[in-house]
Amino acid sequence: MKLLQPSSLEELDAAGPGLLLAGGTDVVPILRNKLIDVDTLVDIRAVVPRGVDGTRIGAGTTLAELEVDPQIPAALREACASAASPQLRAMGTIGGNLRQATRCWYWRMHYPCFLHGGDRCYAQTGVHREHSVFANDRTASAHPSDPAAALLALNARVRTNRRELSISELYRLPTNDNRDVVALDYDEVILDLEVPTPEASTYLKAMDRQKYAFALVGVAAARFGTDVRLGLSGVAPIPWALDSAAGLDDATPLPDNAYKIQIARALIERALEAVG
Ligand SMILES: Cc1cc2nc3c(=O)[nH]c(=O)nc-3n(C[C@H](O)[C@H](O)[C@H](O)COP(=O)(O)OP(=O)(O)OC[C@H]3O[C@@H](n4cnc5c(N)ncnc54)[C@H](O)[C@@H]3O)c2cc1C
Ligand code: SF4
Repeated sequence: MKLLQPSSLEELDAAGPGLLLAGGTDVVPILRNKLIDVDTLVDIRAVVPRGVDGTRIGAGTTLAELEVDPQIPAALREACASAASPQLRAMGTIGGNLRQATRCWYWRMHYPCFLHGGDRCYAQTGVHREHSVFANDRTASAHPSDPAAALLALNARVRTNRRELSISELYRLPTNDNRDVVALDYDEVILDLEVPTPEASTYLKAMDRQKYAFALVGVAAARFGTDVRLGLSGVAPIPWALDSAAGLDDATPLPDNAYKIQIARALIERALEAVG
């Protein structure tokens, strides 16, 4: 495998397609377990901005840096602080977090499932307690990113080396023709994020244990004036927006995960109370 280390955007463009490497907390296990075929690895750490400047966040900023920065809205700080472990947060960047792969155990064990390009989802008829309750007809994978749900509620925008798009546009449900849940080109680099400042915001996360666990359900709420936006993690293959708890009535749970809807209802109620 070839490793490229561009030191400017020009060199990055010239590098050509390759799997992007930032903190490596997801990429390294994926490569070690041979879950995807990769010829070229492109280390983007010298190219992607790092740090916070008002409402702008460099995509190379780590979750550990974000969780303590007073310029960052509470929902995003709390989402970062609730993710993974201190060691992983010290290495993991916000750009890498938004593009992390599914935690579905069938995918991680390399079953030839829909997201690996196959024609069936093993979780739908198998073990799916932690899987999606929305949009789970092709893949029942549950999106694992806590920060993505917070950024959805905060109505953040993403700037890449090719364009600018909203967080909701960053994600897509996979189709037969394109199994990716992220609407970026393979080698498209997130450079930074623009995060509006709400009047109040919060992120609440239900986990199997208090620390170091992915969200069973995460709920972010952000209030801008009288408008409250909600973003959920752990309930759909992509971060999921709802207008209110009434949207939970449209969920399509699998036989063993309807409990997630009750959790989501309770967290939404608490989050709405918290943001007033
Ligand atoms: C044990 C464990 C527990 C975890 N628990 C949680 C959790 O509870 N909540 C949570 O939200 N996350 C959790 N994570 C995920 C963790 O937060 C991410 O792995 C980390 O943030 C990824 O950042 P990175 O810089 O290491 O990305 P990398 O591993 O380097 O990259 C991850 C992906 O993003 C791509 N990428 C990286 N940077 C960019 C960029 N700037 N633009 C475009 N694509 C890019 C890479 O090509 C790759 O596809 C956990 C991870 C592990 C291993
Ligand atoms: S939930 Fe998605 S990743 Fe998991 S087995 Fe089904 S298709 Fe594969």
